[in-house]
Parts: sequence; C-alpha cells; structure tokens
Amino acid sequence: MALSEFDLIERFFSRQHQKNRSVSLGIGDDAAVLSPEPGKELVVSTDTLVEGVHFLQNSDPASLGYKVLAVNLSDMAAMGAEPCSVFLALTMPVADQPWLQQFSDGFLSLAERFSVVLAGGDTTQGPLVITVTIIGQISAGKAMLRSGAKAGDRVFVTGTVGDGGLGLIEAKSETGESTESLEKYLRPEPRVQAGQKLARIASACIDVSDGLAADLGHILERSEVGAKLELESLPLSTSVKRYVDLHGCQEFPLISGDDYELCFTVPEDCLDQLQAIKAELGCDITEIGKIVATPGLVVTRAGKEIILNKPGFEHF
Ligand code: ADP
Ligand code: MG
Repeated sequence: MALSEFDLIERFFSRQHQKNRSVSLGIGDDAAVLSPEPGKELVVSTDTLVEGVHFLQNSDPASLGYKVLAVNLSDMAAMGAEPCSVFLALTMPVADQPWLQQFSDGFLSLAERFSVVLAGGDTTQGPLVITVTIIGQISAGKAMLRSGAKAGDRVFVTGTVGDGGLGLIEAKSETGESTESLEKYLRPEPRVQAGQKLARIASACIDVSDGLAADLGHILERSEVGAKLELESLPLSTSVKRYVDLHGCQEFPLISGDDYELCFTVPEDCLDQLQAIKAELGCDITEIGKIVATPGLVVTRAGKEIILNKPGFEHF
C-alpha cells in the first residue's frame, strides 16, 4: 500500500526518541523552533548529495543515510562547533519502504551517536537528491576559520588520507570485497570531538572533502600565505600505501577526495597544547608541513619539488 507523505514522515523520520535542549520544537509544525545556549553563536551548513554525482547509482541506502549526515557533521567539526540539529530535504523517485527504512536507520543512528536531533525537513518526488542542513553552536567568536593561518604555523591532518579516494575506486570496481578504504569511503568518521578541542588552539581548519591539496589550498588563499608539504610525511593506511606503490602515483592521497579528515594549522607556541589534545583524542594527528609567507603550495618528495597536475575535485 502506498504511503502518504505524512505517514512516511511519521513512520521513518519522526521516530527519534532523543531530545536536545537546543530544539524547542521539532518535526510536525510549519517550522522548527531552536534555542541556542546564551553566549553561543549558531553555525549553519548545507550539503547536497546527488545520485550519480556524489554517490553511485543503487548505493546501499543505510550507508547513504549515514554519509549524508556524516559529511554535514564534518563541516561542524571543521568549524569547531557542537552539532545540535539537522534538517533533511529528501527528493526521491518513489516511496520505497525498505529503502526508506534502511536510509533512515543509517541517518538516525548516526544522529543519535552525536546527540543531534532531526528537527525538520521536506519530502518531495523527483530524481534522488538528498540535502541536509545542520545547525551547531559555538562560544561567540571561537569558530575556526580558513583565514587564520600565519607563516611559521605547522600543518596537521587527522587520521589518514587517500582512503576515501581509494574506496571510491573500489566501490566503482564492484568487487564486492569489503576493505578498510571502502568502509572509510562509505562511512567516514566525522571528527567532531577533535574539531571542538582543536578550536582552542588551531589558527585555521578545513575538512578534507575535495582532496588535501585543494582543501589546504583554500586555507592558503583565505589566509594569504603558502605552505610546504613533504609527501613522505602524509599519514597513509596500509592499503593506500600499497596502492600508490603499485601504481607509482605518490601524489594520489593529496588529490583524491572523500576523506573527511581535518586539516588544520597550529602556531608554534601551541604545540604543547596540541600534544595534550592528541592524548585525549582517539584519532591520530600527523604533522605534514609548514605555513610560509610566500603564497602557493610547494610539495616535495625526497627533497625535490613535485608538480600536482590536478589539485582536487570540482563540479564545474
Ligand atoms: P510544509 O507543507 O509546511 O512545508 P511539510 O508537510 O513539508 O510541511 O512537513 C511537515 C513536517 O514534517 C515539518 O515539520 C517538516 O519539517 C517535517 N518533515 C518533512 N519532511 C521531512 C523529512 N524528510 N525529514 C524530517 N522531517 C521532515
Ligand atoms: Mg514542506
């Protein structure tokens, strides 16, 4: 039996039990009512995933539900914000109930894990397009911006890079094999806790979605500085190491996207504090280079400068 739009929302999206002080009124009225804590600023971001562009056709719905929220949580992490509520605009060709069940399970279980409330959205018919708007909060003036890097700051990245890109290649090859990289591509871990702690010391931060070189490039541009990176210092998983050695494409982890790690800069006099934060966190943090006054990104391998042909993913 076909579900009405309202039954569908009720059945799949209004079933979250968790409450959150930042949401006074959630799903069910013409709009949600939000109440940020006094002294905090709202941090808001929207991301859209389009079938065939951001995810492959016939993607597993549970992974999709997870990922569309994870990429938005990652934007909160990059700002250092505490995520509070999300809004889900779902356009789909048909109301396929098993698909909706798995999609909403993937979405809501991640929301629960990060104490984020699904506070509203929109449901329409059309080609599969998923838009999530996320609302977070942070103490006034404390958000990490792309524009704060200064010459002399060190450049760091959380976790490993290149797995998202390798996972995408594996997903396309449809071997059906579950690997570490494929898992990371499908279910990236948003670095929300790291972001909130790093906001105390980092001079600039971005999440790595289009590729480390391109995303660090945004920090450099906005901060009007340059950076020197050593290719050898990039943190790689065993599978990415094997892949780059096999194909002789050492620059791959710099130009492949979908990692959702944080790339950030820290002034030298905060490096001790960074060590303390590192000890508190469950994720690795690796120093990969240094900010310099001369604009542009210089990448070296065995001491020699290398040229990157394709800095990262762009739509147009
Ligand atoms: P309106 O016609 O006023 O736009 P809707 O019928 O679109 O209202 O939505 C009814 C309620 O359900 C609203 O509170 C809206 O935020 C919520 N909603 C609609 N679609 C979704 C969805 N996919 N996920 C979560 N909430 C949704
Ligand atoms: Mg509506």
